[in-house]
Amino acid sequence: MYYNSIIDTIGNTPLVKLNKVTRGIKGTVLAKVEYLNPGNSMKDRMAIKMVEDAEKAGLLKPGGTIIEGTSGNTGMGLALAAIAKGYKCIFTMADKQSMEKINILRAMGAEVVVCPTNVTPEDPRSYYSIAKKLNQEIPNSFYPNQYDNLSNAQAHYESTGPEIWRDTEGKVTHYAAGVGTGGSMSGTARYLKEQNPAIVTVGIDTYGSVFKKYKETGEFDEKEIYPYLTEGIGEDILPKNVDFSLIDHFVKVTDKDAAIMTRRLAREEGMFVGWSCGSAVYGALEWARQHLTEEDMMVIILPDHGTRYLNKIYNDEWMRAHGFLESQEFATAADILR
Ligand code: PMP
Repeated sequence: MYYNSIIDTIGNTPLVKLNKVTRGIKGTVLAKVEYLNPGNSMKDRMAIKMVEDAEKAGLLKPGGTIIEGTSGNTGMGLALAAIAKGYKCIFTMADKQSMEKINILRAMGAEVVVCPTNVTPEDPRSYYSIAKKLNQEIPNSFYPNQYDNLSNAQAHYESTGPEIWRDTEGKVTHYAAGVGTGGSMSGTARYLKEQNPAIVTVGIDTYGSVFKKYKETGEFDEKEIYPYLTEGIGEDILPKNVDFSLIDHFVKVTDKDAAIMTRRLAREEGMFVGWSCGSAVYGALEWARQHLTEEDMMVIILPDHGTRYLNKIYNDEWMRAHGFLESQEFATAADILR
């Protein structure tokens, strides 16, 4: 048995029970471990879907160039699709993203343009604006625009949702996911709610992002927007892939709570995952603690792998410098014997 190309191995990631970080919580909490995709993130699913839909629509032609603004994981998925199908890739990224993510994309043959983080999306220097400009000026180029391209949510409607429904044998009662472009939450939620409208969805947002306030008040409040560190979730725009009617509740999580939970997932569950996985689990468990009953089954999607954050949240010096590690809980043996 073999696959014809690495992109054929995308999807069908396992659901794994969380056993330790869920202590004191009623019901069953399962993680969907998306780092087991070939590009080490769930974004492989939507990247291949955006490329194939663009080919069908005649927007991407042989020898074309894919240009996208990405926090790294979409870029990896697009790079895999481009290699399999013979396209070039240029990615624009905000400079707050890990150097690892930039180097990984370069390793996959993509050109990466690094842009300033703390400028508005409309600013000509932003990674959104630079991607659009390159798309306008480079002939035969395609700008997937993962924020507003509904192939993104559709990929999760066609794969992530059905996998969760199948693997829980229809027993899933809650679905929780971090919200960035909104694709993984909205597409999966649409499928699951079609199967069982009683399924409750919990979107995880960050402090510094507009989603929670918008859901609760209908107001796009610019005062909610300020710089934060967590990568991949929260936005200062309202992407078309965020379908607020499918997201029942939002929980906001701080950079610090997310970072500490991410490290606990590695040490206590053996899941070496990325920072937004800590956000998703911390926020989902906060919800679960108050609302889950013994019969409930919550699925939390864990978007990516820990390698991309080795020099940030998995680095004790970095954690201390950001005030995220206060105790000696990670002291060395030498510290103890001193
Ligand atoms: N976590 C990480 C690490 C991501 O790269 C993304 C994608 N932006 C998300 C979470 C959020 O997923 P989505 O874009 O589907 O809302």
